[in-house]
Order: sequence, then structure tokens, then C-alpha cells
Amino acid sequence: MVMEYLRIIVIVFSAIFGAAFGSFACCQAWRIRLKEEGKKDPGRRSVCLNCGKRLTWYENIPIISWILQGGKCRKCGKKIGKAEILAEVFGAVSFGLIAWRFLSAGTINYIGFSLVLLMIVGMLLLAIYDAKWQEMPVVVLVYVIIMGLALAVLGIVQTGVSMNGILSLLGSVALLAGTYYLLYLFSKERLVGEGDWMLCLAIGLALGKWQLALVELFLANFIGSIVMVGLGKKKAAFGPFLVIAFVAIVVLEDVIMHYLSF
Ligand SMILES: [Zn+2]
Repeated sequence: MVMEYLRIIVIVFSAIFGAAFGSFACCQAWRIRLKEEGKKDPGRRSVCLNCGKRLTWYENIPIISWILQGGKCRKCGKKIGKAEILAEVFGAVSFGLIAWRFLSAGTINYIGFSLVLLMIVGMLLLAIYDAKWQEMPVVVLVYVIIMGLALAVLGIVQTGVSMNGILSLLGSVALLAGTYYLLYLFSKERLVGEGDWMLCLAIGLALGKWQLALVELFLANFIGSIVMVGLGKKKAAFGPFLVIAFVAIVVLEDVIMHYLSF
């Protein structure tokens, strides 16, 4: 019983942290963008990007402030972008679910848990940036590739070095990064951008199993197609769908491997 309460508390706190990191990722995305455009950084504190009003602490609480203010700036009434609230909600949901998944395992893999969360913060930033400006900052792509590499190494160390394990990891990278690199080359950046294949490399490394990579490929395209049809768009940034699919696969890894291990 006590353990059950403890588990719920950890999951709730992870979700709160996730919302805060979603907000952080959004701020950092704007900061990188303003720097890229040669504009002045608004400084350490958050400001309204329309009127420059500094946000007080109670206007800066993830999710809650957005709801209380009806998604608008209190001074100028300018609508706060959808990306902000979506990033906060997605951060909360993904951190909560991933905490639940890692806490459900017999022995808790604390290093893996931390690395996955650190990677998701970078991926959230990339998803926001891609959705807003249809590109991804290289410095953050390198960061998520390093996190993916760390997870790949951890996976090999924890399960023991085996030929099967290494082949599965290489298969995962080839399926995701390989497919998107070829699409990138042959479509001459029209279908797939440079950021997409680098993000796929990070995801391929982090998933580490070819079965998971295959599901990632299908799921990201499936979600992307549904959203594009739903929004009536012909083209959309692909980054956000790769990230949503990644979180879903990490959470459902055991189920997927149960049905797809041969
Ligand atoms: Zn304002």
C-alpha cells in the first residue's frame, strides 16, 4: 500500500516537472530563434513577446496560468501561441507516463529513466521549433543524438554485449536514420529536411531495437497523416510526430516487444 502511494506521488511530481520542462523548452526555442534572427534576447525572465510585459510568477505557472488567463496576455490581450500550452501538456503527460513505465519494472532503471527524460526535453524543443519555423537548430539535434547514443550504450551494457543486441541496434539506426537520410538526399530537402534524419538518428539509437524502430516509422507517419487530414494541410513539419511516436513507443515497449519478438 505504501509503495503504491509512493509510486503515485512520483508519477504526479514527474508530470509537474514535465509541464515545467515543456514551458522551458518553449522559452529556449524562442530564445534560439531570436538569436538566429539577430534580435535581442528578452533576458532571463519570461516576457510577453507582443508587448514586452514581464510575467509575474503567477502568470508563469505551466498550464494553470494559461487556463486562468484564457490563453491571453493580461496586458495586451494578445493570444499566447498554441505551441506553448501543447508543449506544457505534452511535457506533463509524457513525463508522467514514462515515470509510470519505469516504476512498473521489477528493478528501476534510474539512469535510463533520467536519460529518457533529458532526451525528451531536447526533443520537445525540436518539435516546437520545427512546428513554428520548419527547421531544427543543429546544436539541439547534436544534444539529442548524444542522449540517444548514451541510451544505446546503456542498453548494451545492461543487457550484456551480444551479437543479436548489436545487430538489432544497427537495424534500428538503419531503419530510421537510413530511410530518412535517403528521403532527404533524393527529395533534395523537399520532403524531408536535414533535421528530420538527424532526429531519426537520435531516436534510432535511443530505441535500440529494430522492431521498435519499425513501429516508430509507421506510428509517426500514421499520426502525421491523421493530423494533416484533420487540419486540411498538405504539408506539415514532421518533427512533432516523430517525438509523439517516440514517447508512445518508450511507454509501450514491453507490449510491442511481446508481439514483435521472433
Ligand atoms: Zn502582451
